[in-house]
Amino acid sequence: MTDIFKYDVDADGVATLTWDLPGKSMNVMTLEGLESLNAGVDKALGDPAVKGLIITSAKPDFAGGMDLNILAGMKRQAGDDPARGLFEGTMRMHELLRKIELGGADRKTMKGGKPVVWACPGTAAGIGLEIGLACHRRIAADNPKAKIGLPEILVGIFPGGGGTTRLAWMLGAMAAAPLLLEGKMLAPAKAKAAGVVDEVVPADQLLARAKEWVLNAGPDDVVKPWDRKGYKIPGGAPYHPAGFQTFVGASAMIHARTQGVYPAAQALLAAVYEGMLVPFDTALKIEARWFTKVLMNPSSEAMIRSLFINKEALEKGAVRPAGVPDMRVRKLGVLGAGMMGAGIAFVAARAGIEVVLMDRDQEAADRGLATIAGLLDEGVKKRKVTEAQKAEVLGRVLATPDYARLEGCDLVIEAVFEDMGVKAEVTAKAEAVIPEDAIFASNTSTLPITELAKASKRPERFIGIHFFSPVHKMALVEIIKGKQTGDEAVAKALDFVRQIRKTPIVVNDARFFYANRCIIPYGAEANRMVAEGVEPALIENSARQMGMPLGPLQLGDETSIDLAVKIMNATKAALGDAYPDNPGDAVIQKLYDLGRLGRKAKAGFYEYDEKGKRLRIWPGLRELFPVRKDQPSKTEVQNRLMLAQVLEAVRAFEEGVLMDIREGDVGAILGWGFAPWSGGPFSWVDMTGPAKVVEICEDLAARHGPRFAPPALLKELAAKGETFYGRFDAAKKAA
Ligand code: NAD
Repeated sequence: MTDIFKYDVDADGVATLTWDLPGKSMNVMTLEGLESLNAGVDKALGDPAVKGLIITSAKPDFAGGMDLNILAGMKRQAGDDPARGLFEGTMRMHELLRKIELGGADRKTMKGGKPVVWACPGTAAGIGLEIGLACHRRIAADNPKAKIGLPEILVGIFPGGGGTTRLAWMLGAMAAAPLLLEGKMLAPAKAKAAGVVDEVVPADQLLARAKEWVLNAGPDDVVKPWDRKGYKIPGGAPYHPAGFQTFVGASAMIHARTQGVYPAAQALLAAVYEGMLVPFDTALKIEARWFTKVLMNPSSEAMIRSLFINKEALEKGAVRPAGVPDMRVRKLGVLGAGMMGAGIAFVAARAGIEVVLMDRDQEAADRGLATIAGLLDEGVKKRKVTEAQKAEVLGRVLATPDYARLEGCDLVIEAVFEDMGVKAEVTAKAEAVIPEDAIFASNTSTLPITELAKASKRPERFIGIHFFSPVHKMALVEIIKGKQTGDEAVAKALDFVRQIRKTPIVVNDARFFYANRCIIPYGAEANRMVAEGVEPALIENSARQMGMPLGPLQLGDETSIDLAVKIMNATKAALGDAYPDNPGDAVIQKLYDLGRLGRKAKAGFYEYDEKGKRLRIWPGLRELFPVRKDQPSKTEVQNRLMLAQVLEAVRAFEEGVLMDIREGDVGAILGWGFAPWSGGPFSWVDMTGPAKVVEICEDLAARHGPRFAPPALLKELAAKGETFYGRFDAAKKAA
């Protein structure tokens, strides 16, 4: 038996279970961990000499949550009745936590229970907090890095270890909502204010205070409110007038936010609602049933795979070239202190890297520095950054027009104007100063890396590192290999992205790389529909209801109409006669000619008020492009908008621009907000079924043109009854 939870009893008869998962810096709950906890709890409750129990951790934090790899595996291991396996596994977890909660008390009289206290040294997420919620008292250390909460909803599931029921019964549905439905993680003081923990004490007094509480606990302290007669849930149960209003409001709010495509949020609300109508033990059973239902939904599996397992694998270097030593950046040069350059300098300096931020003159370089100071000030205002931290970060950035200052930079990223000539000039000037083995990167959005590398004396050390705007908010970074780019450059870029804690994907050089390549057709298809006379609101709502964060017309306004015109003209110039005719181009051109340049102009596809608040679709759009009487169905609009993106992703993979479907899925969600519920375009195809997707494509192609023709790879998968993850999952192959 492994002792993942170490068991000790002191001279005063207080037992301690100390969680210490071997070989990991953070505890995560595994099946063996549950067994170990169960054995320890049995020992403490069964020993008459033990007065009470402290549950704590040997590590700086309590726990990061459930090992989601296991959750995904549990379903596979459950054999031919996976739902039963999941439900029974979940119920075993409930039995264990309920045992802790009862502390060995007689179920009828609720007498004779032993006090159990949770002593939480740092962060406690998911099952970590769920263990705490089962204890009679929760004491947290005043640890400035600690975050306490239940973030399950963010990966497409909900707290299924009793956290949903316990939190809702303890705080009431209204107060529990931000923690359960938004996955909010709270600092210890905030967790106390919210009623999630009972006490916050200095870290060095945590265990002493926990012991003191155990030794002084009276009979009342060891009976949970819901195990006493007549307990009333704060804010009222569903049939109470106040409770009724809460649930009506919550139900509407969830639907507005999720557009009906995320099963977890609705299941969570159902579990809370139904649970509140029955006794506590039955409520836990109901929670387990809804939890099973969510885990059985393919959307949850796809979300866990992309947003947790594969995202983490990419961040840890799943696609890093083997055998290249640590290439972490010590001194970074950034050329161009505009919007992107300043953003890149900021995230690097924040990660502890020394930065030389260059522009054409001192004034322009200083503007970049001022942008960084502004971003830090926002953090100070929100109390996320102290004045001292601000000074420290700014102290790492040298703003200068002098190339000589780039000396010693082991990585340089250029973010100057999008112009081949300007970029070639700065490449040559920088390479004259930086060490021979330094890596040079371009943040270009549209220029081929292989072309740009021609200005370099060492094209094998030249690479694309493509950030998204705003740099400090967007999690994805696309790394682009030119024809001659070598492994060291790739490793350098990956190590840098890891240092700044973003998620990388590595792609080959091709027009618009990956993310922009797929998002441009989404807008173009919508523009085409406007030109055809499809009601603009139908386009926007259909997109939102298939889980896109922004409708394509709104997205057009956000990224600006002039950018769309620029891309359109550049693509026309590059493709010549091969440029596919799109009646939607006239829509963009018209808005441009009218000066309706999008949100920044407070006029675009939408109308805005003076403060820039979006009001409604601009009525003039329907006059310029009259709305047809016969409107397509929502499904038709959704298929067109979905496949515009998905087929581009499939083609990128087929052509070898994308090398790994995991990168295609993770990159789609993080890069352009592709319907997260689906797990990404490749997961979406697998979930829908390749044969069905081919059928939809062929139908659309017959009516709307060859851009919807199914790529050969898709047809092949369909014909053989295969899926993308069945054939191409690199993670499975490596295992
Ligand atoms: P920007 O106009 O805000 O900034 C460009 C900066 O480069 C300016 O400060 C300019 O003074 C400076 N510069 C120009 N020539 C220079 C030279 N010879 N030497 C030194 N500095 C020089 O532009 P931006 O939006 O930050 O874009 C920069 C690059 O990033 C472009 O290649 C663009 O395609 C790419 N990019 C932009 C976005 C975006 O959303 N804006 C996203 C990804 C990539």
